[in-house]
Amino acid sequence: MKNKNAFDVIIIGGSYAGLSAAMALGRSLRKVLIIDSGLPCNRQTPHSHNFITLDGEKPANITAKAKEQVLQYNTISFYEGIAVKGEKKDSYFSVLTHNSDVFYAKKLIFATGIKDVFPDIKGFSDCWGISVVHCPYCHGYEVRGKKTAILAQGERAFHLASLVNNLTQDITLITSDRHLFTKEQLQKLENHTIRIIDKEIIEVIHVKGYLSQLVFIDGSREDFEAVYAAIPFQQNCTIPVELGCEITEMGHLKVDGFQKTTVSGIYTCGDTSSMMRSVATAVASGNICGAMVNMELINEEF
Ligand SMILES: Cc1cc2nc3c(=O)[nH]c(=O)nc-3n(C[C@H](O)[C@H](O)[C@H](O)COP(=O)(O)OP(=O)(O)OC[C@H]3O[C@@H](n4cnc5c(N)ncnc54)[C@H](O)[C@@H]3O)c2cc1C
Repeated sequence: MKNKNAFDVIIIGGSYAGLSAAMALGRSLRKVLIIDSGLPCNRQTPHSHNFITLDGEKPANITAKAKEQVLQYNTISFYEGIAVKGEKKDSYFSVLTHNSDVFYAKKLIFATGIKDVFPDIKGFSDCWGISVVHCPYCHGYEVRGKKTAILAQGERAFHLASLVNNLTQDITLITSDRHLFTKEQLQKLENHTIRIIDKEIIEVIHVKGYLSQLVFIDGSREDFEAVYAAIPFQQNCTIPVELGCEITEMGHLKVDGFQKTTVSGIYTCGDTSSMMRSVATAVASGNICGAMVNMELINEEF
């Protein structure tokens, strides 16, 4: 392929996972195009934690620094935009963008992340990643000891309660699934003085994302300082599935131990395929993914 729009690899998604894959490929002299729409899932959180050397850094600063370092490898190009369609031809792929640009590559990497699906609760999305959080490892230390609600269902509710109990002893579990807990689970929750409320929340009262109260469907209100919420997610990008990539029961792209999807020539990394959702794991899987794609190209060429 001698076309200026032809690449060894197109990486769709240029956040932590995509940039990490790009670095491994750039250092292997691969001609790479990163297509990125600039909307990482943690963009609203003020500080990112639990990633060594950059603990407490603003999320956008981490990507800006990564992008600057990655683009020093002159075989790497960056395209700001949205990939809207992918097609598999005989020995290559084509990718169409929202601006009707078409690019070609021998391999595709999807580092497109996942989208949180917010419940229909007023104020919830404004607080997401600020005082309504999803992960004790990312935010738990900052809200340790605070009056905390956990909004979750079933096994996830019990699991989250046990994790959060290590960080604060003032926990209220808001769940409609009390009847699904075993006797032992209920006993453990009681032993740790974890209250259960099974009323629907209709509003999070907050100032600039920092919550002060939860409002329940019966009109009652209660003060809280932090909420953990286990909410559903969707893949950000539907192209992998349209190209035939299989999805796991949990909704992740199915991969082998080397980030390869179920479709030949298509790889993925980061949140698309990982239950462990963190900057560190996104970077780690991107690093593996870049090396494995390079290896596959080497095996085909050497
Ligand atoms: C609110 C919140 C706070 C968090 N805080 C922390 C924290 O403190 N510490 C921590 O370690 N982890 C944290 N995480 C988890 C961490 O942010 C994710 O694990 C990480 O961002 C995953 O990286 P990724 O590259 O896979 O996906 P993302 O960072 O979500 O990036 C996906 C990229 O793909 C792009 N994209 C998607 N579809 C397309 C398309 N069709 N075309 C072009 N581009 C596309 C998006 O615009 C985006 O730039 C947090 C997550 C959330 C939701």
